[in-house]
Amino acid sequence: MSNDLVNKWVRREIRALSAYHVPPAAGYVKLDAMENPYHWPDVMVSEWQSLLATAELNRYPDPAATDLTTTLRNAMQVPVDAKVILGNGSDELIQMILMAVSGNDRVVLAPEPSFVMYKMIASFLGMSYRGVALCDDFSLNESAMLAVIRETQPAVIFLAYPNNPTGNLFEKQAVINIIKAAPGLVVVDEAYHAFAGDSFMSQVMQYPNLVVMRTVSKMGLAGLRLGMLAGNHDWLDEFDKVRLPYNINVLTQLSARFALQHREVLKQQTQQICQDREVLLAGLQAVPGLTVYPSRANFILFKTPTGRADVIFEGLKQRKVLIKNLNKSGGSLRDCLRVTVGAADENQQFLTALVQTLASL
Ligand SMILES: *Cc1c(COP(=O)(O)O)cnc(C)c1O
Repeated sequence: MSNDLVNKWVRREIRALSAYHVPPAAGYVKLDAMENPYHWPDVMVSEWQSLLATAELNRYPDPAATDLTTTLRNAMQVPVDAKVILGNGSDELIQMILMAVSGNDRVVLAPEPSFVMYKMIASFLGMSYRGVALCDDFSLNESAMLAVIRETQPAVIFLAYPNNPTGNLFEKQAVINIIKAAPGLVVVDEAYHAFAGDSFMSQVMQYPNLVVMRTVSKMGLAGLRLGMLAGNHDWLDEFDKVRLPYNINVLTQLSARFALQHREVLKQQTQQICQDREVLLAGLQAVPGLTVYPSRANFILFKTPTGRADVIFEGLKQRKVLIKNLNKSGGSLRDCLRVTVGAADENQQFLTALVQTLASL
C-alpha cells in the first residue's frame, strides 16, 4: 500500500537510482576512497584542540565564512578578481550549480567514465545527462565532445582535471577548445589538484564561462566536508542564492582555516603520496597480467585479466585490503579496479595481498 503511494509520488528517475553505496571499512587497510592516510604532528593536534575549545556551538556560523574564505583564496591561489563560494564538500557545489540551471530541457554533459556525482545530481534534479565516451587511453574524444556540444547545447559541462576514476589529466588544449565551444558553463573539477602539478585556476577569469572547483578532501581533510568554487562574479552571485545559509559549520570553518594555516604539513604529506604513487605504479606494473594506467592523482586504475576483477577484489578483501571495484560500471571500466595511494606500508600490504590473490586463482 505505502509502496503504491511511493511509486505514485517519488519521481521515476529517483526510484530508478540506487543509493550511493559506501561499504563498511573497519578492520581493513582502507584504500578505496582517495583519503590521505596521514595524521598531524602531536603539537599541531593539541593546538587545534585548543582552538576548537573556543568554538561557539550555540551560535550559527558566519554565513559568509569570511576568515576561512580569505585563507582559502590564498592557499588555492585564486585570482584577486575572481569570486569564491564554499560548499559542504564539492559535491554540494555541483548540486548548487545544477540547481541554479536545472530544467527539464536542460542538458548536463561529461566525459565517461568520470565522477559519478555529475550524473547522479543531474538525475536528482530531473535534468538530462549526456555522457561522451573517452578514447581507449582515457584521453578526451575532442571531436565527439564538440559534436555532442553542438547537438545538445549543454547548460553545464563537467571536466574532472585530473579525471576520476581514470587518474589522467586531459590535454589542456582540448579542455580549452571545449570551453570555447561550450554555449553554457564549464566546470573544471580540480579535486586532485594537490597531486596533479597543473591547474586552470590562473586562467579562470580568461573565459567568461569557466569556473574552477577545488576540495580539501583529497588533500587530507575529507572529514571536514569543504569544497570551493572560483570564477566570475556573475555566475557565482547566482549560485550563491541557492546555497543554504549556514552550509559550512563552525567546526569546519575553524578547523579548515587552522589546517590551511599549517599547509606545509599537508604539502609534505601530499608530496610523500606523489612519491609513493610512483613506487606503487612500478609495483603494479611488475605484476604480470595487469594493465596499469598512469596517474596524476592519489589513486591508480588498473585492469585485471578478463573476467577476474570481482574475484581479485574479493581476494583482496579476504586479505583485509579494501580498494574500489569498478567492474560493474561496465564499458571501458570492465575488469578495472582502483587503488588509493596509502602510506608506504599499506601500499606494500596491498601489493602482497594482490600477488597472493593472483597466485590463488
Ligand atoms: C572526490 C571527488 C569530489 C568530491 O569531493 P568532496 O569535496 O569530498 O565532495 C569531486 N570531484 C571529484 C572528481 C572527486 O573525485
